[in-house]
Amino acid sequence: MEFTLQAGRVALEAPERRPLAFRDPAFFDDAALEKELTRTFEICHGCRRCFSLCEAFPTLFDTIDANATGAADALTRTEMDRVVAECYLCDLCFMTKCPYVPPHPFNLDFPHLMLRAKAVRFRKGEVPRRDRLLTATDAVGRFLGIPIVAQTVNRLNRSPSFRRMTEGWSGIHAEARLPAFSPTSLKARLRHPRPDLPVVATTDTRGKVALFGTCYGRHLKPAIGVDLVAVFEHNGIPVTLIEGEVCCGMPKLEIGDLDSIDAFRRKNIPILCAAVEAGFDLTAAIPSCVLMFKKELPLLYPDDADVQTVARAFFDPFDYLVRRHQTGLFRTDFARSLGRVAYHVPCHLRVQNLGLRTRDILALVPGTELEVIERCSGHDGTYAVRRESHDQSMKIGRPVFRRVAEAQADHYTSDCPMAQDQIHQGLGPNAPAPEHPLALLRLAYGLLDPD
Ligand code: SF4
Ligand code: SF4
Ligand code: SF4
Repeated sequence: MEFTLQAGRVALEAPERRPLAFRDPAFFDDAALEKELTRTFEICHGCRRCFSLCEAFPTLFDTIDANATGAADALTRTEMDRVVAECYLCDLCFMTKCPYVPPHPFNLDFPHLMLRAKAVRFRKGEVPRRDRLLTATDAVGRFLGIPIVAQTVNRLNRSPSFRRMTEGWSGIHAEARLPAFSPTSLKARLRHPRPDLPVVATTDTRGKVALFGTCYGRHLKPAIGVDLVAVFEHNGIPVTLIEGEVCCGMPKLEIGDLDSIDAFRRKNIPILCAAVEAGFDLTAAIPSCVLMFKKELPLLYPDDADVQTVARAFFDPFDYLVRRHQTGLFRTDFARSLGRVAYHVPCHLRVQNLGLRTRDILALVPGTELEVIERCSGHDGTYAVRRESHDQSMKIGRPVFRRVAEAQADHYTSDCPMAQDQIHQGLGPNAPAPEHPLALLRLAYGLLDPD
């Protein structure tokens, strides 16, 4: 028998993630769900390993400890729902802590159970309009990204009095920093410095890449996509922008809206599959989107061959660069050093089990010293902006803010732009702005933005 040691746990066999059986009629059956919640909560209460991962576990343990029987079967449905509401589906409990995941006979998948409970709530119409709106990233981004509208909304979002005035009806915490909408689209911003690049394939990369722009890249920070293209093309990898994409669906996962995820899948997968058939690998500059295509959709649609094709072709951008580096195709003729860099590793990257690919690439820049921080920043999708959870999200992020401040770094960065914003807010009003790792790499190469 073989033992494997994973971060924080000893397991007899490698954990296996099983598909989410959401087409099984029992999936949406309230009584069956409650029974499974009780069984799982009882096991967790006896284990308590995850007490420090997020607020879901302390909420669970404190509630059970406070009731007279000290057992999960005494929990009311409202108490169970409070635990579910604290889970933002980062997957860390499954991936890094739990010894009872399949193939263990307990067959525990805590995040998938939380997702099921969220899906039941969504189907019963119990998810507030605020959450449905906040997760409609494309619809909101398309409207608020219109020039003039974008400038006006950005100005209002920066106004403390406006934010306090609207907190009550919007449900968005007045102090939560909201990202600014970009009046210029990613497509309009893109430059292809080397349009006629020859394609050089390796054993595991096809050498040309189609970029899934992401809602964040299309509506909020097109600069991330621009930096990716600059860095990839500098390394001889031609990049084309996917046309007609919609949100990957990750925010809808957070509220259990499986119908919207299905609608997005129907739009995205044929487009991405066509790119793969045309010889492209796929990438996106946001770990959550990569995770959605690589891991979450394949677990939702295990029998959809096109979903599996897309998953196989999707790469984290730094993983892609590491693979190119392994065959000598990554340029190391840097123009300048980066000095000291505080690098935060986002949860949605950690659970992809790639290792520290971003750290490995940035460490190739001479004179660069990295302080790696592997902790939750507390942003977690909409958790950081909701009125009821913003304070908790800042509390979760505090150890990260402290580590970044103590690093006294020349730059601080995270692969996740939402985590960057959260750290920026946590560092206080006078903190310098964060920079995406792709922007740092571009800086190290001395590749200037033509704009
Ligand atoms: S998935 Fe993440 S947020 Fe949810 S319970 Fe597990 S560790 Fe907590
Ligand atoms: S999810 Fe697993 S490791 Fe975490 S508290 Fe529950 S049983 Fe323990
Ligand atoms: S996870 Fe990616 S595609 Fe999905 S909403 Fe966020 S940025 Fe957009």
